[in-house]
Amino acid sequence: MIRSLKSWRHLLSDSSDLTAFIAGLPKAELHVHHVGSASPRIVAELAARHPEAGVPADPEALAEYFTFTDFAHFIKVYLAVVSLIRDAEDVRLLTYEIARDMARQSIRYAELTVTPYSSVSRGIPDGAFLEAIEDARRSAERELGVVLRWTFDIPGEAGLESAEETARIATEMTPEGLVSFGLGGPEIGVPRPQFKPYFDRALAIGLHSVPHAGETTGPETIWDALTSLRAERIGHGTSAVRDPRLLEHLAENRIPLEVCPTSNIATRAVESLENHPLAEMVKAGVLVTINSDDPPMFGTDLNTEYGIAARLLGLDAPGLAALARNAVEVSFLDTAGKARLREEIDTYLAGWQRHK
Ligand SMILES: [Zn+2]
Repeated sequence: MIRSLKSWRHLLSDSSDLTAFIAGLPKAELHVHHVGSASPRIVAELAARHPEAGVPADPEALAEYFTFTDFAHFIKVYLAVVSLIRDAEDVRLLTYEIARDMARQSIRYAELTVTPYSSVSRGIPDGAFLEAIEDARRSAERELGVVLRWTFDIPGEAGLESAEETARIATEMTPEGLVSFGLGGPEIGVPRPQFKPYFDRALAIGLHSVPHAGETTGPETIWDALTSLRAERIGHGTSAVRDPRLLEHLAENRIPLEVCPTSNIATRAVESLENHPLAEMVKAGVLVTINSDDPPMFGTDLNTEYGIAARLLGLDAPGLAALARNAVEVSFLDTAGKARLREEIDTYLAGWQRHK
């Protein structure tokens, strides 16, 4: 009895140690959405700017409203936030405050998925929208030490008109921070190949291809993303484990999967954390990165996702540092930036091990 209690205590101190390690670990995040990152604190600020919208401006009431119940509620919260983003100043505030939340988690670099179509189609002029995110990006880097880059994504449910508009903004107005082109929204009934011409245009100006695929549909959608959209990384890709040939292809060609464990449970792409295919992906030699997707709306953050990955993969501090290095490696940060961040991770790990 005493012995089992001891071993239980040992486990507890071990995991709280790892939690502290994760909290300070310099990290890169590659799959996280702009509007989906609005925390109750940020929404309260936006609501105070627009009292006529009828969204409570009290962070505590909002925190309760944000509590994830089911996917339908998530959509409701998401749309409430969208309705609060009415002018360029809202966009700037949202973007900068997201970076502040990232800085608190030791996130040094993030590729934020932005959907310009949502704002532009709601009446914010494209130029003002781009100026707002770029202004926030520069301030975040200077004042918070968080380097932001953009993925502009097509909201698949909005059809080809949104694809055209997103490709136009990306290729004709290309803001400095833009590195990649994505595709989100539902997968069922929204075949990937129809977006090929838009991806072709984005890739032609040097953007990288990072569509969502294989989250709510099978491995064939991932194949489509690879062949039609020339995907360099796959958003989610949870169904890849159903196709051994695909796993082999991803491993051989070093095409990473951007895994978001809590999101997968929330959207029911995966039944439970115990059944999450993360370990299977790693065992097959596929490069994985850990991400938070729409963190406050799924009641998570990147540090929590790293904790979950540690549990699913049985990782210790060096294992977690390796996971953080993966994200740096397959990011679209420039070579010097990658080297700096890698070194920061290594120094942090070495310091941690010295004090153990
Ligand atoms: Zn996503």
